[in-house]
Amino acid sequence: MLAATAAAQPAVDPTAALLQEIIRLDTSNPPGHEGLVDELLASKLRPLGFEVTIVPTPEAGKSHMIARLKGDGSKRPVLLAAHADVVGVEREKWTVDPFGGVIKDGDVYGRGAIDFKGGMAVFARAVMQLAERKVPLARDVIFVVEADEEAAQYNTSWLAQTHWAQMDAEFALNEGGWIIAGDDRKVKYVSIATADKSSVGVIVSATGTSTHSSMPRPDNAIFALSRALAKLSTFEFPVQLTEANRKFLAVLARTSPQPLAAHYRTLLTSTDPAALAAADREVSKDPLMHAIIRNTIAPVIIDGGFRSNVIPGSADATINVRVIPGTDPKDIVSTFQRVIDDPAITVRLSNPNAGPSRVPPSPEDNPLYLALEKQAKATFGGADVTPYLFQAGTDAGAWRSRGIPVYGIYPYPITADELTRMHGNDEKVSVESLRQGTEMIFNTLVEVAAKGR
Ligand SMILES: [Zn+2]
Repeated sequence: MLAATAAAQPAVDPTAALLQEIIRLDTSNPPGHEGLVDELLASKLRPLGFEVTIVPTPEAGKSHMIARLKGDGSKRPVLLAAHADVVGVEREKWTVDPFGGVIKDGDVYGRGAIDFKGGMAVFARAVMQLAERKVPLARDVIFVVEADEEAAQYNTSWLAQTHWAQMDAEFALNEGGWIIAGDDRKVKYVSIATADKSSVGVIVSATGTSTHSSMPRPDNAIFALSRALAKLSTFEFPVQLTEANRKFLAVLARTSPQPLAAHYRTLLTSTDPAALAAADREVSKDPLMHAIIRNTIAPVIIDGGFRSNVIPGSADATINVRVIPGTDPKDIVSTFQRVIDDPAITVRLSNPNAGPSRVPPSPEDNPLYLALEKQAKATFGGADVTPYLFQAGTDAGAWRSRGIPVYGIYPYPITADELTRMHGNDEKVSVESLRQGTEMIFNTLVEVAAKGR
């Protein structure tokens, strides 16, 4: 009876089913335990003819997996990378088990559903379909499952030091841009990340007289640091539009409702400082937009004092600045010095040797970008496709820094509501989005890797 009922149920889409299995492996980092995902995927990929290497790290349970489906070698490999670790959860705030792989009302719920186990399931099913359908390949297809993207040290940069030959490729796909859908689930636009912002640590230090707290002096280090931070809190770096930013804003100007569309247009075309500032204020109410178009300032650690009856001689704050590619960290320091303008304050880089990122954006005339653009349009009804500056860092750096173009996408349509759940509560992705994403990535791979293309 039970079996008959089960048989009558429609089969779960294979990508959603795989995502359920991956979500059920708790890879919250720390500690990660990414090896669980490697074992699961290796058991599915090996029987399909993939050569699979699992690379252990010095930490027990933490490994990377490199799987390769061989082509005839006439072209250099295409690579797909997905991180297996996820951030932790506030379990009591979820309405379902975050590691249960629950499907409810057409959505797969669970930590990592968007970032990035959903993408991993899409990439895995796309490469598995190449093998299942015996697509003849002109190039190897490499699928890398990564450890330590969300935190810690054994990430792809670590992997690249010892296993570069197995990771070398002509171009690669990774997480990054978005397939943004409206509440009616119609796709508004597709952004493909061609560069990531990078992170600069700045230490702001105040000094004063260390003495008994019963006789305070005017040169209190904690007050001086507070004044400095207050000045930074009202300072904003100016809007700085990269080439990708300009194309992205042009798409938003076409696809957004008024008056937002007009504000995007103003940012792109106006030379009037007052109009630009007003448009910036409106656009920057969205924290993501605020971050994409400028260098951002976030105090993250504050450190000063050690007991309640002693005025400390110093106090420090660590400021995390996320910069537009090409920004010289030394310019951040001199800007902060100018804004704070106080001889009691010193500003320095947490890494004194930090220099400007010299990694150029991945080109848009690349065959992989063009194939993804074409397949995104085909899958999502002619939706606009735009390059994109990703607001955070990803592990694309291991490849981009070696001259390998990397294109970033979360390969499933998501709504603004779903996006806020990433790293939050009740993270979810729809089964239909996963199905469409798999079709898009599979067709992209056929286009760049199949023989005779
Ligand atoms: Zn991620």
